[in-house]
Amino acid sequence: MPVYQSEALILRTYKLGEADKIVVFLTRDRGKKRGVAKGARRARSRYTGALEPMTRGDVAYYEREQRDLVRLNFVEPTRSPLSAASGEALGYVGYFAELIDEWAPEAHADERLYRLGSSVVDAIAAGAPVETLARYFEYWLLRLQGVYPSVRQCPGCGGGFDDGASMPPREEAYVCRTCAPGSSGTRLSAEAMQFLRGATSVAPDHLSTLALAGRAARELETAHRRLISVHLDKDLKSARVLREMRQAR
Ligand SMILES: [Zn+2]
Repeated sequence: MPVYQSEALILRTYKLGEADKIVVFLTRDRGKKRGVAKGARRARSRYTGALEPMTRGDVAYYEREQRDLVRLNFVEPTRSPLSAASGEALGYVGYFAELIDEWAPEAHADERLYRLGSSVVDAIAAGAPVETLARYFEYWLLRLQGVYPSVRQCPGCGGGFDDGASMPPREEAYVCRTCAPGSSGTRLSAEAMQFLRGATSVAPDHLSTLALAGRAARELETAHRRLISVHLDKDLKSARVLREMRQAR
């Protein structure tokens, strides 16, 4: 059985039987994995405190032939979201982890996605404004998948978004105010579009240099929720998880 060791982000866990857990984790070098953590549900487990979503650590695991599930050997946390100062930040941790989980392809290395997730862990620990971080994270997650619409150029007329933009119903693009048909769709203020343009070049540990006021934050939340629901297929995932849990028994 080949053993692998890698830096990884814990994404989530499932119960397995009486004493074990299935751990979903994103490795830096070999993509997303699902592994059995033996005894992780016991009170005195070596995994205690190491399997919270968005924990970063060194992970060792065995791969077994013909099996999708690997077997965890150890998880040594190097940074835990539990060290975050605010309870609000902790509330977002599960959301970040779930989005990465939904998007990370199975066993396919995606180092840019790993670096994005890892930088989010650092930003949370450093006390970054978490709602700003969430909108930034959604932007980059969608952009890394190649599905984020242009934040600089209206596809209708080639103009910019200095006056804000609109995402028409059933269309995943930002169009300028002149090209937007009527008042339907999701409107984005000039401030929201400015935040997006800034997000293209600002590192997550410098998020405090990007202004995101309440209204613009709401607009982006709505626009991102639309983009995420269009580009994510949840049914496939839950079906696959159920299959793998049956195989693990
Ligand atoms: Zn236009």
